Amino acid sequence: MTDVVSPLDDLRSWQRALREQFPIIVGHPGLAYLDSAATAQKPGAVLDAVRRYLTTSNANAGRGTYPWANATTALVERTRDRVKEFLGDPDPDRSAVHFTSGATEGLRIVARDWLTSCLGDGDEIVVPFGDHQANLSPWLEARDQLARQGVGIRVRELPYQAASGDYDPAALAGAVGPRTRFVAATHVHHVYGGDMNVRRIRQAVGPKVPICLDAAQSVGHLPFSLAGLDVDFVVFSGHKALALPGSGAIWSRDVRGPALRPGGWSGTPNTVGIASLEAALDWLDAAGLERIERWTVALGTRLTDGLSRLPAYEVLGCRLSLAAASQAQRRRSIVTFRHHKIDSNDLGFILFSHGFMVRSDGHCQAGSEGRDGAVRVSLHIHNTVEEIDSLLSVLANLQ
Ligand code: PLP
Repeated sequence: MTDVVSPLDDLRSWQRALREQFPIIVGHPGLAYLDSAATAQKPGAVLDAVRRYLTTSNANAGRGTYPWANATTALVERTRDRVKEFLGDPDPDRSAVHFTSGATEGLRIVARDWLTSCLGDGDEIVVPFGDHQANLSPWLEARDQLARQGVGIRVRELPYQAASGDYDPAALAGAVGPRTRFVAATHVHHVYGGDMNVRRIRQAVGPKVPICLDAAQSVGHLPFSLAGLDVDFVVFSGHKALALPGSGAIWSRDVRGPALRPGGWSGTPNTVGIASLEAALDWLDAAGLERIERWTVALGTRLTDGLSRLPAYEVLGCRLSLAAASQAQRRRSIVTFRHHKIDSNDLGFILFSHGFMVRSDGHCQAGSEGRDGAVRVSLHIHNTVEEIDSLLSVLANLQ
């Protein structure tokens, strides 16, 4: 076990200080929050920023000329730049950030207001059928909208490797043809926890096809750098990145197609959400995403390895990288599993009776596998080795 514990040991005091900054965690000592992939808890700095904004300069953005209105407009514009910086945008003068209510709305805006204007009869798009439903429905809705206008497009499935919950780049290369105009992919899978390796997707589809990346499970959880990704859209949810619910953003650029111009009158932006997003990104950068990733991945590995020693459980996805010593370790901070005999919802209730808050259902996964239900543990920086070890001992007693 030492090879697993050591990366955690040198981070323990750093992690303890960060955990102390989550009021809801500190305020509930008997509970372990293991559902950060659904929504993340907020550090005090985010709560303070919200209160500060609402008590010093709350106004509408882009409308008034008095100081509070100007301060709010400045907040919105500053946070656009902050999002670009946080995403490691190498060319911020040539990209745009639009605020949304979350990843679901972001993906829908790309589909409705951009994709439909780019496609003609006979064009093809490639999209994931086994990722989050939010990254499938909008593309199918775009197809249906075009069909009503007499434009027939073909939607092809982004192929998976059956055993690993990973995309299959070789099969993807076969699915891409001269009429392929768009590919949608996911950065980190919300059920399998795997890094879906977007660079391989770019290699498989070639340099010309726009790619939209659903980064809901990576932004705020691991270091993110647009520099190495070569994608055209990045969509994420603020609430999974420690900001308030109802916040999120689309980053876009127009090197492989027209600029994204969200349609219609956008109305008052969620300025409180934007204030919380700015504070959350500042907090994450100050804490250090590289260390956050090291900590949460090491906890996830500890859990995965522990589960693999309990014959009553099956861990979903990433089966090639379960070993702690594996060089191919791609699992991030999400571990999803089933008990061979206990229904996953029942397991969720049992775990809560021991103080563990996990997700246990179909996880909004498109396609069939998710419908069988599974328990998902998703980690963030407030989680501890002790939580993982006591979860494993509860699970071991349910053989
Ligand atoms: N994409 C992925 C990978 C997700 O995990 C989720 C939420 O769990 C979404 C999209 C949708 O995010 P939201 O509900 O914040 O819009």
